[in-house]
Amino acid sequence: MGIYLDHAATTYTDKHVLDEMRPYFENVYGNASSQHSYGREAQKAIMKARQQTAALIGCLTEEIYFTSGGTESDNWALKGIAEIAGKGHIITTSVEHHAVLDTCDYLKSRGFDITNLPVDPMGRVSPESVAQAIRPDTILISVMFANNETGVIMPIAEIAKIARRNDILFHTDAVQAVGHVPIDAKTMDIDMLSLSAHKFYGPKGAGALYIRQGVNIGRFMHGGAHEKGLRASTYNTPGIVGLGAAAQLAADTMEQNTRHERMLTGRLADELTKLPGAFINGGEAERLPGHLNVTFPGIEAEALMTYLDLENIAVSTGSACSSGSFKPSYVLRAMGLSVEDARGSLRISIGRENNVEQIDTVIKTTQAAVERLQKLSPLFAQRKGGKTHV
Ligand code: PLP
Repeated sequence: MGIYLDHAATTYTDKHVLDEMRPYFENVYGNASSQHSYGREAQKAIMKARQQTAALIGCLTEEIYFTSGGTESDNWALKGIAEIAGKGHIITTSVEHHAVLDTCDYLKSRGFDITNLPVDPMGRVSPESVAQAIRPDTILISVMFANNETGVIMPIAEIAKIARRNDILFHTDAVQAVGHVPIDAKTMDIDMLSLSAHKFYGPKGAGALYIRQGVNIGRFMHGGAHEKGLRASTYNTPGIVGLGAAAQLAADTMEQNTRHERMLTGRLADELTKLPGAFINGGEAERLPGHLNVTFPGIEAEALMTYLDLENIAVSTGSACSSGSFKPSYVLRAMGLSVEDARGSLRISIGRENNVEQIDTVIKTTQAAVERLQKLSPLFAQRKGGKTHV
């Protein structure tokens, strides 16, 4: 097989996680709401997964609500709070994932006011700008924990404190961060948090929304009494068990994974930035250990990605959800990159199974590809080097 460096899009499901899940497909297949032993066994497994998930993010077991993933959790948090408020103002950022941005667009069409805060050249939103954006009718602040394209970590604890001081609910889309960096929802004053198992070696289609006790949120799925009547639908027992097992595994291995990924990311960054004009987006900001977003001026990153794909190296340009379209990344544009530089940017996201040998192969292959593409590029020939800002 090739070299997989697109962990921000999704990870493989860990073998141990899969082993934990298997019995809930094969033997313990009862509906977790059923009263017989098959059902009770499934319910017990769900309870364990709830504890494991809660432990990973530092909240109470009863504050975890299982969902189908990050998109659903984001939708629920935003629409659920908006529904209870009826009207009002929501503060978010211009670099959120589409799961938040498009939900905000929808809420705007329903009469809510939305403020999309800008970010600095490192991709961070400033707590001061959040404080300044607060209005008497602000009902919710939603800021992502870490960005999916750059891995840049936002000053979440400071922003959450501002929200708490002003009696405004705070939600964070922590889909990229959970399982990769320590999170403590309680000490960080987070009211709601979205997470998704497939970003940390769990299965796809399983996620959770943490909702702090006391937060009044609208019902998301109407039907049965699952999840305290707020999110109906038969429990996805294998998926939930997988989420719990992945959460446990992440908690147990976070330190060593972080060390390993940082070492590999550092090696990659050091070598790739030796290429003419290359720079790391969010380079000086605190970032997730496995994320690297590199700009190679004068080239089309889509061409580079295809070249690497032919060599069996999987990377991405921007977020997986918007690739396929050749639009320059709105995240990088918001950080002040020119259209040209945004187009020349590649996301490389490393995982715990990658090794030095693979990274050295990627370095060599990328260097050769970028040199060829830059030679062919009239844009690069005209360029004096350095970052081109808008
Ligand atoms: N939020 C962020 C920051 C993401 O990176 C993603 C997925 O890429 C999502 C939300 C959506 O998560 P899911 O794929 O579980 O719906």
